[in-house]
Amino acid sequence: MTSFRRRIQWFTISLIAGLLAIFSLALYLGLSYILSRHIDEQLLAVASAEAQQVEKETGELNEMGYLSSASAREFHDAFEAEWGREEHELLEAIRHSVVFDRDGQILWKGEGVAFRAELPPETQVHVLKGEPAFDTLYKGHAPVMRRISFPIPLQGEIRYVLQTQMSLKVVRKTLQWLLVACGTGSLVVLTLAWVGSTWIARVALSPVSTLSRTAAHISDRSLETRVALDAPYEEFQQLAQSFNHMLDRLHKVFESQRRFVADAAHELKTPLTAMKGNLEVALQRARSVEEYRDVIAANLSQVEHMSHLTRSLLTLAQFAGSRPPVQLEPMTLKPILEELTAEITVLAKEQGCRLIVHVQDDPVIVGDTAQLKRVFINLLDNALRHTPRGGTITVAVEVVGDEVLASVTDTGCGIAAIHLPHIFERFYRVDEARNRHEGGTGLGLAIAHEIALAHGGALLAQSEVGKGSIFILKLPVRRTHHSP
Ligand code: ADP
Repeated sequence: MTSFRRRIQWFTISLIAGLLAIFSLALYLGLSYILSRHIDEQLLAVASAEAQQVEKETGELNEMGYLSSASAREFHDAFEAEWGREEHELLEAIRHSVVFDRDGQILWKGEGVAFRAELPPETQVHVLKGEPAFDTLYKGHAPVMRRISFPIPLQGEIRYVLQTQMSLKVVRKTLQWLLVACGTGSLVVLTLAWVGSTWIARVALSPVSTLSRTAAHISDRSLETRVALDAPYEEFQQLAQSFNHMLDRLHKVFESQRRFVADAAHELKTPLTAMKGNLEVALQRARSVEEYRDVIAANLSQVEHMSHLTRSLLTLAQFAGSRPPVQLEPMTLKPILEELTAEITVLAKEQGCRLIVHVQDDPVIVGDTAQLKRVFINLLDNALRHTPRGGTITVAVEVVGDEVLASVTDTGCGIAAIHLPHIFERFYRVDEARNRHEGGTGLGLAIAHEIALAHGGALLAQSEVGKGSIFILKLPVRRTHHSP
């Protein structure tokens, strides 16, 4: 796997190298353009100044040369006044000039003209139209000279063509120097960038190393360990905080699982101890059939309790994390309630209790039928167990705002205010001894509460000792989207 540190370095270096290349190229092209323009301007200035002199000295051109020394000085003065150049530059320019007639025949040639003096046909055509023409002379592929061919009119007609050339050596040298400077500068910058990015990557990633070292040492036994990052950067502080929060959550989950296992073991231990006691006592001496039957019956009820407990524990074990897995789909509560109340009507009658079902509204909700059934079974079972003869159990459904409220009300013993906040906790029982004796596990309401939360709803309880209790399951009503 590639190292992130190396990645940062390569990225930085590539980015800087790319930028330097673009900068150098832009500089090279820009400077070469400016120098070329400068050369052309100089050539044009020299050529037009020379041409003026030639125009003045009409007819003076002969094989002896077209400028007398006096004329050259006058020519130079005019040129210097306009361009501020040194005298020798102008004289140098004249030395590199050639004068052609209209047909391209050389009339005069300065002794400094090193290159072949010629008037190419296309240049000739251009110049005879009255416009100056530039061209470049090459040695191999390298440009060595820039040349201007300048028209000289006499009495309104182009009579001569002045050609002046200028060496491109300075331009070439300057550009070569620029390339060397850019290359050397780039190397220096890239070396510094490599060193700098190595340092930055090391400093910037050191909190990550600290974090991974801490993470490597954390096990389920050392979940109290927290990362203390000495990083001055907000991002790493946030990372450390998130990491610590994750450890907090993991710690809580581990703790609750540990507690759950301990509680479950304790719950199983009690009936097992009772069964062991029963069996030991029975085995102490020979017993009558009746006595053995009693022992077996007592143990059977303990086994039933354990199997009820085990079922509840299995249900809780299915809850990944702390929430039960629910398969939500559109449904209504009425069919479930009708089915369940039909089942317990007989039981209620046997107990001498009245069962009233009052489903006012039955809106569509999004729920898991099996899990919601489990909630109502638990609530109805609790109500039956805690309501004495002559009492009433009422099941009602109504819609309030965006919620459907399904309630199970009883006129039973009620729950004391001190216990009420705890009844949804796992293994919490109001009257431990009695409840256990009656087969309660203290898990029913905890499971129902978690199922309600998994539906995006809630399970609430209100109760008054001696008067009864009401358990309300709140579920969101399904939103239907009407097409406009
Ligand atoms: P269990 O299966 O032991 O009944 P639950 O979680 O269902 O466990 O109930 C938790 C506690 O709440 C129990 O101790 C029970 O006594 C009390 N309880 C539940 N429902 C009622 C009710 N309708 N009336 C009075 N007490 C109730």
